Amino acid sequence: MPSTYTCPACGQVSLHPMDVKFGWCSRCEAFSGLDDEQLASLVDGQELAEVSLNRQRQAVRELAQRRLRRQG
Ligand SMILES: [Zn+2]
Repeated sequence: MPSTYTCPACGQVSLHPMDVKFGWCSRCEAFSGLDDEQLASLVDGQELAEVSLNRQRQAVRELAQRRLRRQG
């Protein structure tokens, strides 16, 4: 696992281990490093218990939006 995370959307680099693990970008405030399936398994698997409540809510919201976009 790389020790840094570079956001594909805005290019911000994070050294935070949680950001690296979950592909989280604090600038975008999104899980920009995860695809739909990875985000879904994260939410379904309760792995988000490790991260803050705000990010858990964001993950669920982001997943719902991605699924809507894919259907729409
Ligand atoms: Zn970003």
